[in-house]
Amino acid sequence: MGIAKFEIRRKCMVCGEPFMAKTIESWYCSPRCSKIAYKRRRDEEIRHSKLDVIVRKIPKSQEYVKVSEAYALFGISKDTLYRLIRKGKIPYVNAGKKMIRVSKTELMKMYPLRKHPLKKEKPEPKLYSLEPKNCYTINEMCKKYHMNDSTAYMQIRKYSIPTRQIGNYVYVPKKEIDNLYKSEAK
Ligand SMILES: [Zn+2]
Repeated sequence: MGIAKFEIRRKCMVCGEPFMAKTIESWYCSPRCSKIAYKRRRDEEIRHSKLDVIVRKIPKSQEYVKVSEAYALFGISKDTLYRLIRKGKIPYVNAGKKMIRVSKTELMKMYPLRKHPLKKEKPEPKLYSLEPKNCYTINEMCKKYHMNDSTAYMQIRKYSIPTRQIGNYVYVPKKEIDNLYKSEAK
């Protein structure tokens, strides 16, 4: 028997064109699109690093922050901030022209801190339903995602997807499998 080959139809995450992914980590149709994606990730990285620098410079005890600091902290735009101010939703001080400061504590109550998109967060413990009605059999999984069963088992092992055997059937949670292949082109 030959080596199981992974091939799945997906939409390119950059141009949206359908393509045949050769590995589970292939998300782009061409070297050109992966280059674009790489550049975008790098630009995002740089943008966030610059904002991180601003955040680090804000003294912890400082209650009122500049508009640019609020953006660095929470990722909320100038327009949004001014709207909040106009509507009286947020305490502010005006120390002169272009010197508006807004309450950090109040913003904290309204917005989560800006998230670094590339920083890995602790995965939440997952709850699986292994009731057959919430599961695919391996056969159904193969049919739905166009793979043979050795590829299916390989993926299940690789992603530590729980399985349950009842009689001759092996069940895998639908939600997990669908999540894994959710970018598959329709
Ligand atoms: Zn593409």
